[in-house]
Amino acid sequence: MPTEHTRWRCGQCGNLTRFDVTRTVRSREYVHVDLAGEGSVQEREVLAETVERVVCRWCQGTDTVVVVPRPDAEEAPSQ
Ligand SMILES: [Zn+2]
Repeated sequence: MPTEHTRWRCGQCGNLTRFDVTRTVRSREYVHVDLAGEGSVQEREVLAETVERVVCRWCQGTDTVVVVPRPDAEEAPSQ
């Protein structure tokens, strides 16, 4: 996963912002179920996370997306 100093980049088309990410997440959730049986997650803590695949949304490239250093770490990430 990218950090504040790195980002994903598609080596094929140059995409920096849009990806399909397949990942396995092990998490603990605080689930609040109301009396009607409707449940909602109030808090979520990620215990473990594995990124299985990152696919570029622009060119559908697989294995073209790499983690590269940010040119300017001050730059605010656009999400
Ligand atoms: Zn691409």
